[in-house]
Amino acid sequence: MSKKIATYLLLAVFILSLGLVGCGKQTNSSTAKVLRVGAETTFPPFEFQDETSKEYTGFDMDLARAIGKQMGYEVQIQNIGFDGLIPALDAGTIDMAASAMTITDERAKKVNFSQPYYKSGLSIVVKSSNAVINGFKDLEGKRIAVQIGTTGAEAAHKIKNAQVREFNSSSEAYIELKNNGVDAVVNDLPVNAYYLTKSGDKDAKLVSEVANSEYYGLATAKKNTELNEKVNKALDELKKNGEYEKIYIKWFGKKPE
Ligand code: GLN
Repeated sequence: MSKKIATYLLLAVFILSLGLVGCGKQTNSSTAKVLRVGAETTFPPFEFQDETSKEYTGFDMDLARAIGKQMGYEVQIQNIGFDGLIPALDAGTIDMAASAMTITDERAKKVNFSQPYYKSGLSIVVKSSNAVINGFKDLEGKRIAVQIGTTGAEAAHKIKNAQVREFNSSSEAYIELKNNGVDAVVNDLPVNAYYLTKSGDKDAKLVSEVANSEYYGLATAKKNTELNEKVNKALDELKKNGEYEKIYIKWFGKKPE
């Protein structure tokens, strides 16, 4: 190739790339900013699909949308397995996880957590006829169903001689209990309570003991500290203007603790 042609080619590539950069800018400024939110959407009342509208609904979904609105973002929700949420944040395929995710030291090494937005704890569901399991100490040597990658799974694995079965969703764990495949389900208290009232499963009951206190946080990528600050600021504003309380009352029928 002659020097002259090579120079023209280089120039052409340069002009073309300028054009492309220009286009990118134009589309970005003409469309709304998007906040890609990930959630494992079979975790009512925090995230689940509305049967008729097929929309993702629940406390976290309302909160994520309100936070997005407060920050001037359009919120797009994606259903991702619970154990895939932190990897998705890492890979940059989502911007925020709003999935009833408990703030733990181990997770906090991998992601940034917002200020706590919900107080939770672990509890047990057993068959109504079960008179043996009345608390966590009674789970020794028992068969327990949990959701994979959760604090419930972690707690179950610590129980002596327990046979722990991990499922992709808590609904599958409840089905396993119904089918007598396990003796108990260990899961977040509000989700257990919601299951028992909404599913109409008269065959199961909640064990009164709540094992611990856990706090949910909204997770963002470790490197994106700016987004975490924005989320915290938006949460502060929603707490101040009454919107957070409104959403809380809508889903739990009482004021936040
Ligand atoms: N709060 C539990 C955890 O963070 C369960 C969350 C969930 O299953 N969505 O591990």
